[in-house]
Amino acid sequence: MFYNRSRYVALYSSRLVIRNADRKFLSVFLPFGHGIGLVIHVYIFSTWLNITLIYPRVYYINVDNTIRQDKGKEIALNPNQQILRINDYTYHVKSQTTKREYDVIQTETGWICTCPDHSFRKICCKHIHAVEFSIKIRNEVRQRNEVMIEQMTNDKCPKCQSRNIVKHGIRHNQKYDLQRYSCKECKSRFSFNLGFEGMTASPKTITSAMQLYFTGESLRNVTKFLRLQGVNVAHSTVYGWIKKYTNLMEKYLENITPQVGNTWRADEVWVKVKGDKKYLFALMDDETRFWIAKEVSDKKEGHDASGLFKQAKEITKTSPKLMITDGLRSYNDAFLKEFWTQKNPRPVHIKHIRMSGDMNNNKMERLNGEFRDREKVARGLKKDDSPLINGYQIFHNYIRPHMGLENQTPADKVGIKIKGDNKWITLIQNASR
Ligand SMILES: [Zn+2]
Ligand SMILES: [Zn+2]
Repeated sequence: MFYNRSRYVALYSSRLVIRNADRKFLSVFLPFGHGIGLVIHVYIFSTWLNITLIYPRVYYINVDNTIRQDKGKEIALNPNQQILRINDYTYHVKSQTTKREYDVIQTETGWICTCPDHSFRKICCKHIHAVEFSIKIRNEVRQRNEVMIEQMTNDKCPKCQSRNIVKHGIRHNQKYDLQRYSCKECKSRFSFNLGFEGMTASPKTITSAMQLYFTGESLRNVTKFLRLQGVNVAHSTVYGWIKKYTNLMEKYLENITPQVGNTWRADEVWVKVKGDKKYLFALMDDETRFWIAKEVSDKKEGHDASGLFKQAKEITKTSPKLMITDGLRSYNDAFLKEFWTQKNPRPVHIKHIRMSGDMNNNKMERLNGEFRDREKVARGLKKDDSPLINGYQIFHNYIRPHMGLENQTPADKVGIKIKGDNKWITLIQNASR
C-alpha cells in the first residue's frame, strides 16, 4: 500500500512538473491560461459541424439554384411558353407541369412568385429566373439595335467635308443674324442652317415656340413670348412652323422602327375638331410609354378600331402578346381581326375594367389627360390629321422626359437616342438631309 502510494505520489508529482511547465509555456503564448482550450475546442467543434452538416446543405442549395436558373432560361427561350408582362411590376408565367399560371411580382425587397416553390421555401424559383432572363434578353436586343440620331456638326464644309473652314461675315437677315463660312479647299460659301433655310426666325426661336406650344401654351401666349425676345410674328406664322416641321419630322421618323415591348394598351379620348366632338383613339406600348398609333373618329361606339391596330403592326413590325383595352366592343373585333392567331403563344386580350387607383389605367389616362390639357388651349383641330396631334405625338415620344421612365423619353426606352441639348433641332436637321 505504501509502496503503491509512494509510486502514486511519484507519478503525480511528475505530472505536476509537466503541468507546471505546460502552464508556464502557455502563460507566455496564451496569457489567458487554459481557458483558451475551451475556445479552441468550440472552434474545432463548430468547424466540424460546418463541414459535416452545413456545407453539404449550402452546396445542395447552390446546385439546386443552377438547376432553377437553367429551367428559367428554358422557359424564357421557349417560344411556346408565355411570359406575359401585365404591368411594370407584374408578370404571368405559365407553369411547366400544370395548367396554372403564376404571378411574378417585383417588390421593394425583390421578386416574389405565387408558385409553391417560392411560397413555401422562399427561394428564387425558376419563374423568377425566367422573368429576369427575359428582361435581360430584351434589353440586350434593344441595345444591339439602338438607333443613334446624332447632332449635326458645324465644323465641316457641307460640299467637300473639309475641316479647313473660316468665318466669312454675317448675313443680316430681316429677323436674325446668320454666321457665314467659307471653305479654304473648295472655296464655297455656306452657313450652318440646315432645315431652317429661308425662315423668318432662328432655329432656336422656332424650336422654343414649338416646345412652348406642346407643353400647353396657346398660340397667343407663344407669340407674346416671342415678342419679348424681339421676334414679331403672327399666330399663323407660328402655326405654320409647327405644321411644316411636324410633317418633316414625321416623314423622317416613319423610317425608324421603335423596339416596343409586347404589352400594348388602347384607349380613346374625346377631342374637339372644328368645334365638333370627336374621339382620338390611341395605342400605346405599356412598358416604354411609346405612343405607337392613333386615329380620329366621329364616334366612340361602333368605331372600327382595326385600322388603329393594323397601323400599330406596320409601325412596330410586331404584334402584342397582350392587348389591354376597355370594354369597347370594337376593340374585341379588331383584336380578333388583327392580332389573334392560333399559333402558340396565343395573344391575350384583357378587357380592362376601369377602377380608381389603378396604376396602369392611370398611365393611359395620363396620356389622355396630357392631350386634353393641350386641347383646351388649341381651340379645336383644323382637320383630322391636324399637325397638333402628330406634333404632340412626336413631343410625347421623342422630346419630353417622363418621370415614370427615370426622366428618359419613350424614344430612349425603345432604343432611339437623340443627341444634343435641343432635340427638336437634331431631329429637324437630320430630317432635312
Ligand atoms: Zn415561381
Ligand atoms: Zn469645301
